[in-house]
Amino acid sequence: MGNFESPILKNLLENANIAVVIHRWDTSVVYANPTALRLLRLTHEQMLGKDALDPVWRFIDEDKHPLSSDQFPVTQVKRFKGPVNNMIMGVIDSAQVKPSWFMVNAYPEIASKEKDSFIVITFSDITEQKGLFSFKAIADNSAEIVIVTEADDLAAPLGPRIVYVNEAFVKLTGYSREEAIGETPRILQGKETDPAELKRISTALKNRSSVSAKVRNYTKTGHPYWLDINIFPLTNRYNEVTHFAAIQRDVTQEIYSAEQLESNNKKLKELKVDLERLIRERTIELHDANKKLFQYAYYDVLTQIPNRRCFLDQAEKLLSRAKRGSMFFLVGIVDVDYFKNINDTFGHDMGDKVLIKVAECFSLFFRQEDVFGRYGGEEFGFCILLEDDSQAVGICERLRVSISALCFTSETHENFTITASIGVCVSEATPSLSVDTQLKKADIALYKAKGDGRNKVEVMLVSAIEKQDG
Ligand code: GH3
Ligand code: MG
Ligand code: MG
Repeated sequence: MGNFESPILKNLLENANIAVVIHRWDTSVVYANPTALRLLRLTHEQMLGKDALDPVWRFIDEDKHPLSSDQFPVTQVKRFKGPVNNMIMGVIDSAQVKPSWFMVNAYPEIASKEKDSFIVITFSDITEQKGLFSFKAIADNSAEIVIVTEADDLAAPLGPRIVYVNEAFVKLTGYSREEAIGETPRILQGKETDPAELKRISTALKNRSSVSAKVRNYTKTGHPYWLDINIFPLTNRYNEVTHFAAIQRDVTQEIYSAEQLESNNKKLKELKVDLERLIRERTIELHDANKKLFQYAYYDVLTQIPNRRCFLDQAEKLLSRAKRGSMFFLVGIVDVDYFKNINDTFGHDMGDKVLIKVAECFSLFFRQEDVFGRYGGEEFGFCILLEDDSQAVGICERLRVSISALCFTSETHENFTITASIGVCVSEATPSLSVDTQLKKADIALYKAKGDGRNKVEVMLVSAIEKQDG
């Protein structure tokens, strides 16, 4: 290649857009084309005759460490008598602080004699592409997963072909770079990957547009995970889509937490509903229990009418009303005649039925404002307010007749009736009047009614007695 100065070749070199420097075997420069001179910022004179070790320039590697002379492309070609391909190196000269970055190729032109051999170096400026930092380093080291696929063959089963994955991808999926590259992202999908979401992605890719999706994928060992994916097209300088880049975030934990939260909320809501129902039930139970308690405390279990305590309470209240209204206060005691005989003849259960029927008769007979109750075994008490004490006998007579009109049938189908004796005391409701003294007086009247042959009403009009006494 001693004739590199032939006109055609020389013209080619002079006009080439790539820098060409030719060294002799002793590394001294015999030729540098204009592009080389321009890139190295040297004149023809400054360049010619210099050897590679001249301190006019300093070479550095990609990590900005100085290259030793052994590592210079010229030295390597000379030593190994072989080419150097695509070596990236920076050149620093005294004129500028920032390095220029060159992509360098070199090869030997070996002649039979060493002095006729040459070393040809070609290089181009890649400073711009190299920039201040490496975008690849960003992708490589990103905590987000980065996958780049080709854009030309999207069809299943093989496309789109993966051309790049970063370290985060390797860590999450368990596939090594070597395993992933050349494969399709379909290797990551599995039975719970949502087909609708995949269809949306594939439509976007066909349309060369960006797309975001949430997808369930699987590791190499089949372990599922959730990804938040952003896919966007990469274009060349003719604006043609050549690749798709996918930035993916592992959101398994977030989705798991959200699911957990939702399930906890659901459980809490169910618990609340259960609790409310329980409270409602318990409130009703409490209400019922209170009602029962009240019933036990104030009502007679057998006849379901007020018991003695309730009767006395209500009698007191009625007496107060009588006193306020200056009315007559009537207290009566009803005692079933020969009740013991009924028990003895028809049985205790029949006796109970009689008592229940008498109580029902009272419930029908008395008005809302009257007071009555079971006073003892077969004795009942009642209190009425009267405008006038002359009404007393009539009312009590009607009560006696009502009781005697009750009809019973025994278990042996025997019909029978009963009678009752009624002792009554009627007084003007003077302030000193008490229920207790009135009851005692009614009891005396009752005793008298019994003595008179039973089935009788004996009314004691207190004012009359007082007048008589007077
Ligand atoms: P008199 O005409 O003098 O009132 O006679 P009597 O038999 O009705 O009176 P006595 O006081 O001798 O008897 C009352 C009976 O009433 C005695 C008792 O066993 C019965 N007795 C009391 N409470 C109940 C009850 O709840 N059910 C039944 N079946 N009998 C009762
Ligand atoms: Mg009695
Ligand atoms: Mg009796």
